[in-house]
Amino acid sequence: MTFDLDMIKKVYSDFETRVNEARAFMGRPLTYSEKILCAHLFPSQAKEAFKRGESYVDFAPDRVAMQDATAQMALLQFMQAGKKKVAVPSTVHADHLIQARVGAAKDLIEAENKNNEVYQFLQSVSNKYGIGFWKAGAGIIHQVVLENYAFPGGMMIGTDSHTVNAGGLGMVAIGVGGADAVDVMAGMAWELKFPKMIGVKLTGRLNGWTAPKDIILKVAGILTVKGGTGAIVEYFGEGANSLSCTGKGTICNMGAEIGATTSIFEYDQNMSKYLRSTDREDLADAADAVAHVLKADPEVHANPEKYYDEVIEINLDTLEPYLNGPFTPDLATPISQMKEIAEKNGWPTKIEVGLIGSCTNSSYEDIARAASVAKQAKEKNIEVKAEYTITPGSEQVRFTVERDGFLKTFDEIGGKVFANACGPCIGQWAREGADKQEKNTIVHSFNRNFSKRADGNPNTYAFVGSPELVTAMAIAGDLRFNPLTDKLKNKDGIEVMLDEPSGDDLPRLGFDVEDPGYIAPAEDGSNVEVIVSPTSDRLQILEAFPAWDGQNITGARLLIKAYGKCTTDHISMAGPWLKYRGHLDNISNNMLIGAVNAFNMETNNVKNELDGQYKPVPDSARQYKASEVPTIVVGDENYGEGSSREHAAMEPRHLGVRAVLVNLLQESTRLILKNKECLH
Ligand code: SF4
Repeated sequence: MTFDLDMIKKVYSDFETRVNEARAFMGRPLTYSEKILCAHLFPSQAKEAFKRGESYVDFAPDRVAMQDATAQMALLQFMQAGKKKVAVPSTVHADHLIQARVGAAKDLIEAENKNNEVYQFLQSVSNKYGIGFWKAGAGIIHQVVLENYAFPGGMMIGTDSHTVNAGGLGMVAIGVGGADAVDVMAGMAWELKFPKMIGVKLTGRLNGWTAPKDIILKVAGILTVKGGTGAIVEYFGEGANSLSCTGKGTICNMGAEIGATTSIFEYDQNMSKYLRSTDREDLADAADAVAHVLKADPEVHANPEKYYDEVIEINLDTLEPYLNGPFTPDLATPISQMKEIAEKNGWPTKIEVGLIGSCTNSSYEDIARAASVAKQAKEKNIEVKAEYTITPGSEQVRFTVERDGFLKTFDEIGGKVFANACGPCIGQWAREGADKQEKNTIVHSFNRNFSKRADGNPNTYAFVGSPELVTAMAIAGDLRFNPLTDKLKNKDGIEVMLDEPSGDDLPRLGFDVEDPGYIAPAEDGSNVEVIVSPTSDRLQILEAFPAWDGQNITGARLLIKAYGKCTTDHISMAGPWLKYRGHLDNISNNMLIGAVNAFNMETNNVKNELDGQYKPVPDSARQYKASEVPTIVVGDENYGEGSSREHAAMEPRHLGVRAVLVNLLQESTRLILKNKECLH
C-alpha cells in the first residue's frame, strides 16, 4: 500500500510543466535536484534565476518526518499553531530512545517502561493532528521512510540529519531543526539558501568485496567532513544505475558526514524494482510514467563540468573496500593499506566488537551479504574472535531476514540482535565495561564514529565499513586483516580464505511482516486529548511567548558577554540534557552554561547586577526575569553555529533575554530566531 498516493500523483501531474517553466526562468538546463527544488517552490515565491549559494528561496516540501527525540519540542510548538491538522503528511518514529543492552525483546520492554510518558505524548499528539505514528520497535526513521514514504521527485524535510537517506529513492530530503518542521506542518513556507551542486559520476560496477558503502567512504575521504557544506551531491552515470535502491540510500545517508545539504540519485529501474518489492506498484507505475523528467537534463550529463560546481569521478571497477576512522568518518583507509597505517599510528588492532545495521546499512541486501560471510565461519570451522551485533532498520526487514534464515546464521556465530532502533549508533548502547574507558577497537557499519558516539568511551577507536567487511573483520578479530588477500587459521589449524560476499538485493519471496508497528491517526482528532502529565519533568506544554509591544527595550542588563565561539552546544548543551528536550523550563537550566564569560574567562559564572553576586547563567537570568528586568546577551563569532537546535533560540527567550548582539550569526540560528520572532 502506498501512503498518500493522491498527493504523490498531484506532484507528478504538475512536475513536467514546472520543470519546463524552471528551465525558462533559470535560463539553462537543470540538474535533477534543481528540477525537484524548482517544482516545489512555495506559491508566493518569485520565479527567477536563483543563484546557487546566494539566493534565499521559499519552498513547499511534500512531507515531514520526525524522530522521537526531536519530535517532542517540534510537536509542542506545533500545538501552539492553532491548526486542527498538519498541512502536509507527517510521521513520528520512536527509535532514538531505545537502549541496546541484552537483546531486542527485553530492551524494548525496558524502553517502553522508561519512556512511557514520552511515547504516550507522541502517540496522542500524532493522533490528534493527523500524524502517522510508528511505535517503538517499528524501526529507524530513515529505513521506515525509505520503505513507506520516500518517492522519486518528492521533497521532504525531517528533524534528523540523516533524513537525507531518502535521496536513495530520488527524493530531495533534508535534515532540519524542529522549528522548520513546525512551519511546514503549519502550511508555511520553508526557506533554504539555494544549494550548490556537486556531481559524482560513477563508472564501472561494484564487484567482489566492494559495496555501496565504499563509495561514500571514498567520497568522504575526498571531500572531508566539510566539503559538501551548502551543496547537494548528485550521483549519476552507468555505475549509479547499477546500484540497488537501498545501496543508493546508504550512500545518501552518509552524505550527512560530509556536511552536504542532501545527496540524491536519479530515478532508475532499481528504484522502480524497490518500490514494487515494498508493495508500492501504483507508485512505481506513476513514477515510471514521468521517468524521463526524474533525472538531470541530457546537457548536464553530456557536460557535467559546466553544470555542477564540482565534479568527482569514481570508477567502481577499481574501487577498494574502505574502513574509515578512527574518530572521524572522513579518514579513509583502503583495506589493503590498513595494516601498515594502523601499526604506524598505534591504533589498537584487536577488534573487540563488530556491529552491523543502523539506518545506514540494514537493508535486505546488507543483511544477506553479511550473512553470506558469517555462514562461512561455521562452514569453514573458523573461530569468531570478536563480539558481533545486528541492529535491523525496520521490523519489515527483521521479520523477512528471520524468515529467510539470516538471523539464525548470525546466531550461530554468537551474534546478538538488538531492537529495530538506533541503539549503539547514538550512544544508546549499555556496553559492559565501557565505563572503564579502556583503549579498544570496534568496527561498525553505522555512519558516525566521533569520539564516545557508540559507547560513551573516549578511548574506543571506531572504524566504519560495509556490513560484509565488518562481518569479516569481526570473524578475524584483527584490524590488520584483509579478506581479499589474507587467510585465517581455522580450529583444525588449516589456513582458509573467506569467499566474496553474495546476496540478493531484494527478497525472492517478497517482504513479509506481521506487525509493522504503524498506528494511523484519527480521521477527526478534535476530541483527542494530548497526554502530558502536569508533574512530568520531561514534557511541558508550551505557552506562547508574549508578542513584542512595539516599544524600545529600556533598562536592560547584560546577562553575559560571550567570548569566542558560541555554538548551539555552548548555548544549549546536549548529553544529559537531551532528556529534557520536551520541557522548556527544565532544559533552560543549561542556557549558555558552556559560554565563556568575556570578563572573567570562566564558564557559567556571571555577575548579576541586581545583587552583585557571581552565579550560574540560568540562575542569574531567572533572577532578572523574576524582577521583570529585561536582559541582553552579547555573542562573539558565529553565534549559534553547530546543530540546528531550536532550544538555543527558545531558552534565552523563555528566560527573559530580549536581544542577542552578535558579530556574525550562524545561518540556521538566524532562521530559527526569525521563526521565533526574536529577529525581524
Ligand atoms: S541509526 Fe544512527 S544515524 Fe540513523 S537515525 Fe538512528 S542515530 Fe541517527
